[in-house]
Amino acid sequence: MKGEELAQRIAHTREKLVKTYHYFLIIVLSLAVCSQLSMALTGQTPTQYVVIRAAFHIHTTYSGGNWTPSQVVDLYKSYGFNCISITDYNTVNGSFAGVAEAKARGNQTGMIVIGGQEIIAQFPKNNGSTVFKHVLALFLTAPINDPLAWNRTSDVQWYFDQIHNQSGIGIIAHSWDMNDQTVTGTSNSPWWQFRNASYVDGWEIFNYGVIGNGMTDDEIYNVLGRGKIAIASQDFHKTSITNSTYNVLFCINATEEGVKDALINQRLVVYSHGRIFGTREAISLYQRYNVGSP
Ligand SMILES: [Zn+2]
Repeated sequence: MKGEELAQRIAHTREKLVKTYHYFLIIVLSLAVCSQLSMALTGQTPTQYVVIRAAFHIHTTYSGGNWTPSQVVDLYKSYGFNCISITDYNTVNGSFAGVAEAKARGNQTGMIVIGGQEIIAQFPKNNGSTVFKHVLALFLTAPINDPLAWNRTSDVQWYFDQIHNQSGIGIIAHSWDMNDQTVTGTSNSPWWQFRNASYVDGWEIFNYGVIGNGMTDDEIYNVLGRGKIAIASQDFHKTSITNSTYNVLFCINATEEGVKDALINQRLVVYSHGRIFGTREAISLYQRYNVGSP
């Protein structure tokens, strides 16, 4: 009798499980139908973006690099990048010519090439001394040559104004104190005092080329939470690039304007050494497009 009872119980439980599974299926299917229906009713379809892999901080033979602008385009192309910006130093006379060369090569090979410069200037520190800091000026059509670059000490906004006059984007490069590599993160950097400055468009949160350092997670989310653009760079000069750090953008189209729009609207995810950073929306796009690791 006991055995029969047990068998009955098992059969009953199995029946219950099957029923539960069926209910579950019905709920899942209903939800799917509802979401399709609501999209059809509201006329909404999910926006289709072009996924672009980009590097925004690159030097050529014009400013200490080993590769000519054309070679840089070919090299990044071979690593699967769709977009690069050439950012030779503004303190090197004639370096902006590299942008024209890279753009010509990009037109031949299907690479989006953004005109840029890495601007070097002296900036004030909290303690009253000064330090050399760099700004990535992106989407430039003409060079920003500042004759006072080596002794300008206070007018940080001047540089950003020059960038914005060209409808460009200004990103603070290696935002921690590059002169003291024991300093991790930006909190001790003279740049951190500018975190509330509305004219700063974005921050380089990782730089694995010559600096090999990055922001702390708290600082990264601080930047993202302020609506600022967060990018990561190899700061390419001499060494072969690797796929350990790059930016993934979700663009309305594969053009320079499409890339700019994605940056301004924070539709990008930073990939660095197995981790990704971005706004919640950008991360969900990253998952939806199943970008994954290189
Ligand atoms: Zn650089």
